[in-house]
Amino acid sequence: MAQPTTRNYYKILGITQKTSKADIKKRYRELAKKYHPDTNAGSKKAEEKFKIVSEAYETLSNAKKRKEYDRQQTYQKKTPHRPKSQPNWNAPPGGFGREQGGSQKGYEEPFAQEPESIDPDMPTSGFDLQFMVDVPLPVAALGGTIPYSYEKYVQCEECEGTGTQGSDECTECQGKQLVVRSVTLDIKIPPGVADQYTLAIIKEGGAGRNGGPPGDLFLKVCIQPHPKFKRIKNDVIHEVTIPSKLAQEGGSLEVETLNATTTIQVEEETLVGEELRVLGEGAAINWGKKRGDLIIKFNIEED
Ligand SMILES: [Zn+2]
Repeated sequence: MAQPTTRNYYKILGITQKTSKADIKKRYRELAKKYHPDTNAGSKKAEEKFKIVSEAYETLSNAKKRKEYDRQQTYQKKTPHRPKSQPNWNAPPGGFGREQGGSQKGYEEPFAQEPESIDPDMPTSGFDLQFMVDVPLPVAALGGTIPYSYEKYVQCEECEGTGTQGSDECTECQGKQLVVRSVTLDIKIPPGVADQYTLAIIKEGGAGRNGGPPGDLFLKVCIQPHPKFKRIKNDVIHEVTIPSKLAQEGGSLEVETLNATTTIQVEEETLVGEELRVLGEGAAINWGKKRGDLIIKFNIEED
Protein backbone atom coordinates (compact mmCIF):
# COMPACT_ATOMS: atom_id res chain seq x y z
CA MET A 1 0.00 0.00 0.00
CA ALA A 2 1.15 3.52 -0.73
CA GLN A 3 1.75 6.24 1.85
CA PRO A 4 -0.86 5.86 4.64
CA THR A 5 -3.70 8.30 4.17
CA THR A 6 -4.57 10.92 6.75
CA ARG A 7 -8.10 11.10 5.50
CA ASN A 8 -10.77 9.92 7.88
CA TYR A 9 -12.82 7.69 5.61
CA TYR A 10 -15.42 7.14 8.31
CA LYS A 11 -16.05 10.84 8.66
CA ILE A 12 -16.02 11.34 4.91
CA LEU A 13 -18.82 8.81 4.54
CA GLY A 14 -20.48 10.03 7.73
CA ILE A 15 -20.46 6.58 9.28
CA THR A 16 -18.98 4.90 12.34
CA GLN A 17 -17.01 1.69 12.78
CA LYS A 18 -20.28 0.00 13.65
CA THR A 19 -22.22 1.03 10.56
CA SER A 20 -23.45 -2.05 8.67
CA LYS A 21 -22.14 -2.95 5.24
CA ALA A 22 -25.54 -2.28 3.69
CA ASP A 23 -25.72 1.19 5.22
CA ILE A 24 -22.19 2.02 4.10
CA LYS A 25 -23.19 1.11 0.58
CA LYS A 26 -26.35 3.15 0.82
CA ARG A 27 -24.43 6.14 2.13
CA TYR A 28 -21.84 5.81 -0.61
CA ARG A 29 -24.51 5.66 -3.31
CA GLU A 30 -26.10 8.86 -2.02
CA LEU A 31 -22.80 10.70 -2.03
CA ALA A 32 -21.62 9.25 -5.31
CA LYS A 33 -24.84 10.35 -6.94
CA LYS A 34 -24.46 13.80 -5.47
CA TYR A 35 -20.91 14.30 -6.74
CA HIS A 36 -20.97 12.26 -9.91
CA PRO A 37 -19.22 14.19 -12.71
CA ASP A 38 -22.17 13.55 -15.05
CA THR A 39 -24.54 15.43 -12.82
CA ASN A 40 -22.17 18.24 -11.90
CA ALA A 41 -21.42 19.63 -15.36
CA GLY A 42 -17.70 19.03 -15.11
CA SER A 43 -17.23 20.82 -11.78
CA LYS A 44 -13.62 20.24 -10.66
CA LYS A 45 -14.67 20.42 -7.02
CA ALA A 46 -17.38 17.80 -7.42
CA GLU A 47 -15.01 15.59 -9.32
CA GLU A 48 -12.47 15.77 -6.49
CA LYS A 49 -15.15 14.99 -3.91
CA PHE A 50 -16.38 12.10 -6.01
CA LYS A 51 -12.87 10.71 -6.07
CA ILE A 52 -12.44 11.03 -2.29
CA VAL A 53 -15.81 9.46 -1.54
CA SER A 54 -15.04 6.58 -3.92
CA GLU A 55 -11.65 6.10 -2.34
CA ALA A 56 -13.26 5.98 1.14
CA TYR A 57 -15.87 3.50 -0.01
CA GLU A 58 -13.40 1.33 -1.84
CA THR A 59 -11.37 0.98 1.36
CA LEU A 60 -14.14 0.57 3.90
CA SER A 61 -16.21 -1.86 1.83
CA ASN A 62 -13.31 -4.24 1.38
CA ALA A 63 -12.63 -6.25 4.54
CA LYS A 64 -8.92 -6.62 3.86
CA LYS A 65 -8.32 -2.97 2.91
CA ARG A 66 -10.43 -1.79 5.82
CA LYS A 67 -8.45 -3.85 8.30
CA GLU A 68 -5.21 -2.41 6.95
CA TYR A 69 -6.65 1.11 7.03
CA ASP A 70 -7.87 0.72 10.64
CA ARG A 71 -4.47 -0.59 11.62
CA GLN A 72 -2.72 2.40 10.07
CA GLN A 73 -5.13 4.81 11.72
CA THR A 74 -4.49 3.21 15.10
CA TYR A 75 -0.80 3.49 14.46
CA GLN A 76 -1.13 7.14 13.48
CA LYS A 77 -3.06 7.85 16.66
CA LYS A 78 -0.12 6.60 18.67
CA THR A 79 2.37 8.85 16.94
CA PRO A 80 2.87 12.39 18.23
CA HIS A 81 1.64 13.95 15.02
CA ARG A 82 -1.74 12.37 15.16
CA PRO A 83 -4.75 14.59 14.57
CA LYS A 84 -5.52 16.07 17.94
CA SER A 85 -9.13 14.99 18.12
CA GLN A 86 -8.41 11.30 18.39
CA PRO A 87 -8.38 9.57 21.77
CA ASN A 88 -4.90 9.04 23.05
CA TRP A 89 -4.35 7.44 26.40
CA ASN A 90 -0.62 7.92 26.32
CA ALA A 91 -0.01 11.14 28.17
CA PRO A 92 -1.57 13.57 25.72
CA PRO A 93 -0.73 17.25 26.10
CA GLY A 94 -3.71 18.61 27.94
CA GLY A 95 -4.50 15.07 28.89
CA PHE A 96 -7.65 13.96 30.52
CA GLY A 97 -9.96 16.64 31.71
CA ARG A 98 -11.12 16.67 35.26
CA GLU A 99 -14.76 17.02 35.99
CA GLN A 100 -14.12 19.64 38.64
CA GLY A 101 -11.65 22.47 38.61
CA GLY A 102 -8.50 22.17 36.58
CA SER A 103 -8.44 22.66 32.89
CA GLN A 104 -11.50 21.48 31.11
CA LYS A 105 -9.86 20.41 27.91
CA GLY A 106 -12.13 17.50 27.32
CA TYR A 107 -14.10 18.71 24.39
CA GLU A 108 -12.34 19.52 21.21
CA GLU A 109 -13.07 22.15 18.67
CA PRO A 110 -15.06 20.09 16.19
CA PHE A 111 -14.04 22.22 13.27
CA ALA A 112 -10.33 22.12 13.88
CA GLN A 113 -9.95 19.25 11.47
CA GLU A 114 -11.74 20.81 8.57
CA PRO A 115 -9.43 19.69 5.74
CA GLU A 116 -11.09 16.30 5.89
CA SER A 117 -14.55 17.61 5.60
CA ILE A 118 -15.36 17.85 1.95
CA ASP A 119 -18.94 18.98 2.22
CA PRO A 120 -20.43 21.21 4.92
CA ASP A 121 -23.77 19.45 4.49
CA MET A 122 -22.31 16.02 4.95
CA PRO A 123 -23.22 14.16 8.13
CA THR A 124 -20.18 13.99 10.36
CA SER A 125 -19.95 11.93 13.49
CA GLY A 126 -19.44 13.63 16.84
CA PHE A 127 -16.19 13.60 18.73
CA ASP A 128 -15.17 11.02 21.26
CA LEU A 129 -14.46 12.52 24.66
CA GLN A 130 -12.09 11.29 27.31
CA PHE A 131 -12.01 12.30 30.94
CA MET A 132 -10.98 10.97 34.29
CA VAL A 133 -13.61 10.22 36.88
CA ASP A 134 -12.88 10.19 40.61
CA VAL A 135 -14.53 7.20 42.22
CA PRO A 136 -14.76 6.74 46.01
CA LEU A 137 -13.04 3.53 47.09
CA PRO A 138 -16.18 1.82 48.47
CA VAL A 139 -18.06 2.50 45.22
CA ALA A 140 -15.21 1.09 43.15
CA ALA A 141 -15.03 -1.96 45.41
CA LEU A 142 -18.73 -2.75 45.47
CA GLY A 143 -20.11 -0.98 42.41
CA GLY A 144 -22.70 1.77 42.31
CA THR A 145 -23.78 4.85 40.45
CA ILE A 146 -22.22 8.28 40.60
CA PRO A 147 -23.32 11.50 38.94
CA TYR A 148 -20.81 12.87 36.48
CA SER A 149 -20.86 16.32 34.90
CA TYR A 150 -18.91 17.28 31.82
CA GLU A 151 -19.07 19.61 28.87
CA LYS A 152 -19.73 18.54 25.35
CA TYR A 153 -21.06 19.76 22.05
CA VAL A 154 -24.78 19.31 21.72
CA GLN A 155 -27.14 20.31 18.96
CA CYS A 156 -27.92 24.03 19.12
CA GLU A 157 -31.35 24.49 20.68
CA GLU A 158 -31.92 27.84 18.98
CA CYS A 159 -31.74 26.57 15.41
CA GLU A 160 -32.34 22.88 16.13
CA GLY A 161 -29.01 22.05 14.58
CA THR A 162 -29.59 23.71 11.23
CA GLY A 163 -27.14 26.55 11.84
CA THR A 164 -29.60 29.04 10.39
CA GLN A 165 -32.47 31.18 11.55
CA GLY A 166 -34.56 32.00 8.56
CA SER A 167 -32.08 33.22 5.98
CA ASP A 168 -29.54 34.34 8.60
CA GLU A 169 -26.81 32.48 10.35
CA CYS A 170 -27.88 31.30 13.80
CA THR A 171 -26.54 33.78 16.35
CA GLU A 172 -26.40 31.23 19.14
CA CYS A 173 -24.05 28.79 17.41
CA GLN A 174 -22.69 31.10 14.67
CA GLY A 175 -23.85 28.58 12.12
CA LYS A 176 -21.81 25.76 13.64
CA GLN A 177 -25.00 23.85 14.49
CA LEU A 178 -23.48 22.83 17.79
CA VAL A 179 -23.02 24.55 21.13
CA VAL A 180 -21.07 23.59 24.27
CA ARG A 181 -23.26 22.59 27.18
CA SER A 182 -22.67 21.01 30.56
CA VAL A 183 -24.44 17.71 30.98
CA THR A 184 -24.73 15.33 33.92
CA LEU A 185 -24.97 11.59 33.58
CA ASP A 186 -25.43 8.85 36.14
CA ILE A 187 -22.39 6.67 35.57
CA LYS A 188 -22.63 3.02 36.51
CA ILE A 189 -19.47 1.88 38.23
CA PRO A 190 -19.03 -1.88 37.86
CA PRO A 191 -18.30 -3.72 41.14
CA GLY A 192 -14.59 -4.34 41.69
CA VAL A 193 -13.45 -2.00 38.93
CA ALA A 194 -9.68 -1.50 38.90
CA ASP A 195 -7.94 1.85 39.14
CA GLN A 196 -7.24 3.28 35.65
CA TYR A 197 -9.92 1.11 34.06
CA THR A 198 -11.62 2.85 31.17
CA LEU A 199 -15.39 2.88 31.04
CA ALA A 200 -16.88 3.35 27.59
CA ILE A 201 -20.19 5.16 27.57
CA ILE A 202 -21.48 4.76 24.07
CA LYS A 203 -22.98 7.75 22.25
CA GLU A 204 -22.48 10.17 25.15
CA GLY A 205 -19.67 12.05 23.40
CA GLY A 206 -20.12 15.16 21.28
CA ALA A 207 -23.10 15.47 18.96
CA GLY A 208 -22.66 14.85 15.25
CA ARG A 209 -23.55 17.34 12.56
CA ASN A 210 -26.11 17.02 9.79
CA GLY A 211 -27.58 13.94 11.40
CA GLY A 212 -24.24 12.19 11.93
CA PRO A 213 -23.96 9.90 14.96
CA PRO A 214 -22.64 11.18 18.31
CA GLY A 215 -19.20 10.22 19.60
CA ASP A 216 -18.57 8.11 22.67
CA LEU A 217 -17.51 9.10 26.17
CA PHE A 218 -14.52 7.37 27.73
CA LEU A 219 -13.99 7.69 31.46
CA LYS A 220 -10.83 6.54 33.14
CA VAL A 221 -11.46 5.44 36.70
CA CYS A 222 -9.35 7.14 39.39
CA ILE A 223 -10.02 5.46 42.70
CA GLN A 224 -9.80 8.07 45.45
CA PRO A 225 -7.69 7.34 48.52
CA HIS A 226 -9.86 6.54 51.52
CA PRO A 227 -9.10 7.67 55.08
CA LYS A 228 -9.76 4.19 56.50
CA PHE A 229 -9.55 1.60 53.76
CA LYS A 230 -6.75 0.60 51.48
CA ARG A 231 -7.44 -1.73 48.61
CA ILE A 232 -4.92 -4.33 47.55
CA LYS A 233 -6.37 -6.12 44.54
CA ASN A 234 -9.56 -7.68 45.90
CA ASP A 235 -8.77 -7.38 49.57
CA VAL A 236 -9.37 -4.29 51.63
CA ILE A 237 -7.10 -3.42 54.52
CA HIS A 238 -8.54 -1.55 57.49
CA GLU A 239 -6.18 -0.49 60.26
CA VAL A 240 -7.85 -0.15 63.65
CA THR A 241 -6.36 1.06 66.87
CA ILE A 242 -7.50 -0.85 69.96
CA PRO A 243 -6.91 -0.23 73.70
CA SER A 244 -4.02 -2.23 75.15
CA LYS A 245 -6.41 -3.94 77.59
CA LEU A 246 -8.47 -5.33 74.71
CA ALA A 247 -5.29 -6.47 72.99
CA GLN A 248 -4.18 -8.28 76.13
CA GLU A 249 -7.42 -9.82 77.30
CA GLY A 250 -9.27 -10.19 73.99
CA GLY A 251 -12.94 -9.41 73.42
CA SER A 252 -15.43 -8.29 70.83
CA LEU A 253 -15.02 -5.18 68.74
CA GLU A 254 -17.24 -3.47 66.24
CA VAL A 255 -15.44 -2.45 63.03
CA GLU A 256 -16.50 -0.66 59.88
CA THR A 257 -16.77 -2.63 56.66
CA LEU A 258 -17.06 -1.11 53.18
CA ASN A 259 -20.81 -0.66 53.47
CA ALA A 260 -21.78 -1.51 57.07
CA THR A 261 -20.23 -2.63 60.36
CA THR A 262 -19.44 -6.05 61.75
CA THR A 263 -18.36 -7.44 65.10
CA ILE A 264 -15.07 -9.28 65.33
CA GLN A 265 -13.41 -11.21 68.15
CA VAL A 266 -10.02 -9.85 69.15
CA GLU A 267 -7.87 -12.71 70.42
CA GLU A 268 -5.98 -12.60 73.70
CA GLU A 269 -2.39 -11.40 73.47
CA THR A 270 -2.94 -9.62 70.15
CA LEU A 271 0.23 -7.90 68.99
CA VAL A 272 0.75 -4.72 67.01
CA GLY A 273 0.48 -5.44 63.28
CA GLU A 274 -1.46 -8.68 63.67
CA GLU A 275 -4.19 -9.23 61.15
CA LEU A 276 -7.65 -10.70 61.21
CA ARG A 277 -9.42 -11.66 58.03
CA VAL A 278 -13.15 -11.02 57.67
CA LEU A 279 -14.04 -13.31 54.79
CA GLY A 280 -16.11 -11.98 51.89
CA GLU A 281 -16.13 -8.33 53.03
CA GLY A 282 -13.54 -7.10 50.54
CA ALA A 283 -13.89 -5.80 46.99
CA ALA A 284 -15.93 -7.56 44.33
CA ILE A 285 -14.22 -10.11 42.10
CA ASN A 286 -15.35 -10.97 38.55
CA TRP A 287 -17.71 -8.02 38.45
CA GLY A 288 -19.51 -9.09 41.61
CA LYS A 289 -19.63 -12.89 41.41
CA LYS A 290 -17.37 -13.20 44.46
CA ARG A 291 -15.75 -10.91 47.00
CA GLY A 292 -12.30 -10.62 48.49
CA ASP A 293 -11.68 -10.22 52.21
CA LEU A 294 -11.53 -7.36 54.65
CA ILE A 295 -8.27 -7.51 56.57
CA ILE A 296 -8.30 -5.86 59.97
CA LYS A 297 -4.82 -4.82 60.98
CA PHE A 298 -4.35 -3.98 64.64
CA ASN A 299 -2.63 -1.00 66.14
CA ILE A 300 -2.49 -0.86 69.90
CA GLU A 301 -2.87 2.29 71.95
CA GLU A 302 0.07 3.06 74.19
CA ASP A 303 -0.74 3.07 77.89
ZN1 LIG B 1 -27.77 27.49 16.23
